[in-house]
Amino acid sequence: PTRPVINAQKVNALLGKTALGLIEKVAEEAQKQTLGVYLVGGIVRDLLLERANHDIDFVVEGDAIAFAEHMQATYGGSVHSYAPFGTAKWHLDADTAEALGIANGKLPDHIDFASARNEYYLHPTALPTVYSGSIKLDLGRRDFTINTLAIQISPAAHMWRIVDYFSGLDDLKAGLIRVLHSLSFVDDPTRILRAVRFSERLNFKIEDRTAELITNALPMLRRITGERVRNELNLLWQEAAPESGIYTLAKMGALAAIHPAFKAPSHLGKLFKRLRARDLHQESDAYWHILLSHLPNEDITAIGERLLFGKPLITAIQATHTILYELPVLKENSPKPSRVVAVLGAMPAFSLEIAALFAEEPMSTTIRTYMDSWQNVRPKADGNTLKAMGLSTGPIYSQILLQLKNAWLDGEINSQAEEERFLETLVKEARDHDSS
Ligand code: ATP
Repeated sequence: PTRPVINAQKVNALLGKTALGLIEKVAEEAQKQTLGVYLVGGIVRDLLLERANHDIDFVVEGDAIAFAEHMQATYGGSVHSYAPFGTAKWHLDADTAEALGIANGKLPDHIDFASARNEYYLHPTALPTVYSGSIKLDLGRRDFTINTLAIQISPAAHMWRIVDYFSGLDDLKAGLIRVLHSLSFVDDPTRILRAVRFSERLNFKIEDRTAELITNALPMLRRITGERVRNELNLLWQEAAPESGIYTLAKMGALAAIHPAFKAPSHLGKLFKRLRARDLHQESDAYWHILLSHLPNEDITAIGERLLFGKPLITAIQATHTILYELPVLKENSPKPSRVVAVLGAMPAFSLEIAALFAEEPMSTTIRTYMDSWQNVRPKADGNTLKAMGLSTGPIYSQILLQLKNAWLDGEINSQAEEERFLETLVKEARDHDSS
């Protein structure tokens, strides 16, 4: 059978000279120490699929922290290590590139080293405890077969050897997402979300038995922390068409397993598309607004609390809900501007932005006009003007200023002279009222 070949030319073609130079320098140093070092994870899967991926991850059969520190001592940059997991990040800079003698074109910000490890789960859904182990054990703790592939770069005799202990190459060829063992989703239910994300991104099928295991493990989703669910879904927003991932999760019952009120709105695809057409798509919050603002406020709160959103995001999504569904004046054709300002005045800017993007006409134009002009309308007069006119201070001040502002908004006054005349009338009325 034809096996994909990985070599320097291929890495150069897909990832560029800088990445190749870096990998070769790491290989060189590892080979001097006859240390087993492997490229692992997404970058390997993607190289074999001929997709670019710039996250360079290595597994070291030994002490990855010591190895990263050796690279840093030799070539500069800085190392941040995490001893409990035996991992280290080597941060690169322009000086490192020069010391390495590689082009400073698209130098990655950092590369990751991990000590080969096996994980032992104390109990389901807990963070794993880490033990040293060989590359096979390390690869064996990964989520899907296509993510277990590695490229050995050291010792020298094995440079560019593809390591495939779990039939990852076959699944890569067949386009299948397959777990390594039947308890995989029980060990870590976030893999359910990962399976859908990879399947959407690569257009791979979730293999039948794996799909069955997902169905059985759905109730486990209830137990994972809000932060992990949120992080995993935030990654989905970075995919080309996250709506299809959300629909799949909804259909398989995963959203409901996360929280019973969590449902995908039917207009999701249309709204996500609008978001992508705007710069707003970089804001993961925007996706949450779309996903949740169609729900009643109590469900927004419940899901927001489940996913540990924090109060500001929950409040903002509720504001989006209010703007889109609960303000009848916004559904009118040409509503009086002052009535619009009265209801939108307290709304967060981001909620207005989102609502303007998703509302149909005439609501969208009304919200935009509010943002572009009405919200900035102010009368010339202020508290000092009223004081100078001899009006005694009190709640009447804000009432008069509001009336002035509304008169500007609704076109009842259009010049400073008109404002002054109107103000005199209002102040006179207030005085008469006072003295009566
Ligand atoms: P991407 O292209 O999205 O970065 P990736 O495969 O690099 O994809 P990461 O989330 O960066 O994904 O994870 C790196 C590797 O770590 C994966 O290839 C996978 O083997 C492993 N991994 C990540 N999360 C899990 C998990 N929850 N369970 C098991 N293995 C995981």
